[in-house]
Amino acid sequence: MNSAPHTVDEAALSDLTARVQGTVLGPDDTGYGDARTVWNAMSDRYPAVVVQPTAIADVVAAVEFATQNELPIAVKAGGHNVAGNGVCDGGVVVDFVSMRAVEVDPRSKTARVEPGATVRDFDRVTQAHGLAAPSGIVSTTGIGGLTLGGGWGWLSRSYGLAIDNLRSLDVVTADGEVRRASDDEHEDLFWGLRGGGGNFGIVTGFEFGLHEVGPQVLAGVLVYPLEVASEVLRFHREFTTTAPDELCCYASVRTAPPVPFIPEAVQEELIATVYLCYAGDIVEGERVILPLRTFVEPIVDLVETREYTAFQRLFDDVYPAGYRNYWKSQFVAEAGLSDGAIETLVEYANSVPSPYTSIVIEHLGGEISRVDSGATAYSHRDAGYSFNIFSRWEDPEDDDAQIAWTREFFAAMVPHLADGVYVNFLSREGTDRVQAAFDSNYDRLVDVKQRYDPGNLFRVNQNIAPES
Ligand SMILES: Cc1cc2nc3c(=O)[nH]c(=O)nc-3n(C[C@H](O)[C@H](O)[C@H](O)COP(=O)(O)OP(=O)(O)OC[C@H]3O[C@@H](n4cnc5c(N)ncnc54)[C@H](O)[C@@H]3O)c2cc1C
Repeated sequence: MNSAPHTVDEAALSDLTARVQGTVLGPDDTGYGDARTVWNAMSDRYPAVVVQPTAIADVVAAVEFATQNELPIAVKAGGHNVAGNGVCDGGVVVDFVSMRAVEVDPRSKTARVEPGATVRDFDRVTQAHGLAAPSGIVSTTGIGGLTLGGGWGWLSRSYGLAIDNLRSLDVVTADGEVRRASDDEHEDLFWGLRGGGGNFGIVTGFEFGLHEVGPQVLAGVLVYPLEVASEVLRFHREFTTTAPDELCCYASVRTAPPVPFIPEAVQEELIATVYLCYAGDIVEGERVILPLRTFVEPIVDLVETREYTAFQRLFDDVYPAGYRNYWKSQFVAEAGLSDGAIETLVEYANSVPSPYTSIVIEHLGGEISRVDSGATAYSHRDAGYSFNIFSRWEDPEDDDAQIAWTREFFAAMVPHLADGVYVNFLSREGTDRVQAAFDSNYDRLVDVKQRYDPGNLFRVNQNIAPES
C-alpha cells in the first residue's frame, strides 16, 4: 500500500473512471508506483489520482475532474523535468505513457506527434524517412516538456529550437475546451506555448515541420586529460565562435563515466571533453573539425561517421534515471566564457564532490539567434552558450553537501555569465529565476495566462501567475 497524503471523494473518482477510456490509478493500484516516478530521484511526490489517457476526451475528463475537485494537475511526458514537475502531491497526474505515436507525412515533410513520445520515438519514425527536427541529446527525454520550454539539440544551430519547427498544437485549456493553436488560430496561445512551458493547457498533439538529415552524421566525443582543461575550454570558445551552423559542439569537464564507449583505462578519471555533431557533408565536416584533433592531441577520439539515431542514443547511459539531481544553469554571452571564468570553472571541477556530476557548456547560436526574441515566448535568442552544472549523486544523505557545493560554484560563476536561464534547466528555484527565464516576454506571458488560465489550474510548472 502506498501512502498518499490526500484522498479524493469516491463518487467523483468512480465518475472519472467511467468517463476515461484509458487507465485511472489510485495509490493502491498496480502501476501507481511507476506512474509517480520521474527521472530525478529528489522528486518523491504522491498524486491522489493518475490518469493515463488514450484519447483527447480523457484529458478533458482529467482537467474537469481537477477543476471540480479543486486539485492541482501535473502533466508527465518523458518525466525528465529536473524540478520534478511531471508529478504533484495530492493532485491529478496526466501521464501520457499510452500516447506515444509519431506519424510522418513524407510529402509535406511534417510529423504529428502524441504528447508521450520520447526523443527516441520521434527520431525512429522520422529518420525512417530520412527526416528530423531539432530535439534533445538524450533520447529518453520527452518531446512534450522539451518542446514546450524551447528544445535545443544537435540540429538547432541549423534549424532552430524545437519550437521554431512547430506548425500547430492541439491543446486542452483550463475551461476544458479543445483548441488548435497555430499562426492562424489562437495565435496568442501558440506564441505562449512556444517556450512558456505547460502554463497554458495540456497539449495533446504536436505538429512539426521536418528537414532532411543524415541518416549519417559526423559525431562523437573527444577526450582530453584534465591537466589541459583550461586550454580545451579556451580553444572551444575560439573555435565555436566561427563554426558553421552544421556544427554543434559542446565542452564539458567531468569524471569519465563507466559506459561502454569510454575506454576502461580512462573511466573514472577526471577529463575534459568536446562532444559534437556535424550534420552536413561528412568530408567537409572532417575538414571543419580537424583543429579539435590537433590543437592538443585527444587521449581518446570517438568522432566518426555514425547513424544520427545511434548518436542520439549515445548519452542515454551517461544520464540514467534514478539519481539525485540538482542543476544550476545560466546563459553565456556570444563571446563565450572569459579566461577568468574558465579558471574558476576548472578550479571547482578539480574539487567536484560526485563522480556523476558534469559541468557542460552547450553551444547555441546559429539559427536559434536569427529568430526575433519576441517572436515566441523563448526570449534568450542572443545567448551564445548555456553554462550548466548538472550535479548528480546517489545517497540522500549527501543532499545538503552536494547542493551547497553546486550553489557555491554557481555563485562564483555568476559574475561571468549573461542574464537569464533556460526554463527547462531550472530546478525548484524562486520566482525571480522564473522571470529571468522569460525575461522581456514575461509580461506578455502573464496576459496570455490571464486569458487562458485565469484560475492558475496549470501551476505545477515554472509558473507564470495570472494577475488575479
Ligand atoms: C538527461 C536530460 C537531458 C536533457 N537534454 C536536453 C537537451 O538536449 N535539450 C533541451 O532542450 N533540454 C534537455 N533537457 C531538459 C528537458 O527539456 C526538460 O527536463 C523537460 O522538462 C523534459 O521534458 P519531459 O517531457 O521529459 O518531462 P516531464 O517531467 O514529463 O514534463 C515536464 C513538464 O513539461 C510540461 N509538459 C510536458 N508535456 C506536456 C504537455 N503535453 N502539455 C502541457 N505541458 C506539458 C509540464 O509542465 C511538465 O511538468 C534534458 C533533461 C534531462 C534530464
